[in-house]
Amino acid sequence: MLGHTLEELQESLQELGRPKFRAAQIWKWVYEKGVTDWSCMTDLSQDLREAMQSQLQLETLRLIRKQDSVDGETTKFLWELYDGKLVESVLIRSADRRTVCVSSQVGCPARCAFCASGKQGLIRHLEAREITEQVYQIDRLLKAQKERVSHIVYMGMGEPMENYGNVLRSIRIMNDAKGLNISQRKMTVSTVGVVEGIDRFAKEGLQVNLVLSLHAPNQRLRQKLIPYARRYSLEDVLMAMRSFAKTTKRDITYEYTLMKDLNDQKEHAEELAELLKHDRCTVNLIPYNPVEGISLSRPPKESIILFREILEKKGINTTWRYTKGKDIAAACGQLALQEKIEHGSNLAIIE
Ligand code: SF4
Repeated sequence: MLGHTLEELQESLQELGRPKFRAAQIWKWVYEKGVTDWSCMTDLSQDLREAMQSQLQLETLRLIRKQDSVDGETTKFLWELYDGKLVESVLIRSADRRTVCVSSQVGCPARCAFCASGKQGLIRHLEAREITEQVYQIDRLLKAQKERVSHIVYMGMGEPMENYGNVLRSIRIMNDAKGLNISQRKMTVSTVGVVEGIDRFAKEGLQVNLVLSLHAPNQRLRQKLIPYARRYSLEDVLMAMRSFAKTTKRDITYEYTLMKDLNDQKEHAEELAELLKHDRCTVNLIPYNPVEGISLSRPPKESIILFREILEKKGINTTWRYTKGKDIAAACGQLALQEKIEHGSNLAIIE
């Protein structure tokens, strides 16, 4: 159900020999009232409810772990999928924003050296409904507190551009004004740089933000940190991002995770400033969030400040994103990996 657009639901009803206006009624139950049990949709006839029950499952993700950070600003959700695989989402509360970071794949093909998800490699793509449902279920929890999801970032497990069709579909479903109604401008897709994906995304006519996980100022270091980056030259990736910015008239954002002694030195900052000097862009600096089993660490505050100053002096706009939720393993993939290590396939319900 959550992988359908309203039009598709209308078509499914027509195929069942039912009037298509029923779709709007169902839509209202699901998205306005948060009802996910067909038997509770009392304005539908009994036989339609039974028919829908056998045709369309409403929810398929089972929440098996929910963890709040000590500061209460971040909540991590671990979901079990219908086939027993695990994925995570993170809710980040910041002023009046309620941002959900969604996963788009189980595991990830990019295999970034600093990431827990990368350790697993790609296991499978998430279907559009599995992406949408992460947001839907969190939104329902927020509604109970008179809040709602305001922003979505595709920055959890997975490389969104490698699951292009399902990601695009989930964007369109969650953007539906009668559904979750999340503005495209409040959605951000993050990629390690899949050139064909970036080019295609630029032509979709969307207003969704695109962010490049850059993490290094040159190809040699980049492919060491992101093995997947061997597929494309840094030059081609930057060209695709610039062309995306030109076509969509959206500014470019680069994410740069700072790791001690690896990519946080003065010469890295200078090389990065040189690389981006002609871009109208923002570099989002993210001090590394240590991951168990990965021997990398966060740079000292002074080197982060120096790195930032070098970029700013060259006219490059920067932001410094403090990693929230350190105490709940909020870097992507950490919780799923932990669960696998602790419980294997015997998943316990911990709520
Ligand atoms: S950091 Fe992102 S792109 Fe890299 S392996 Fe992890 S999930 Fe994949």
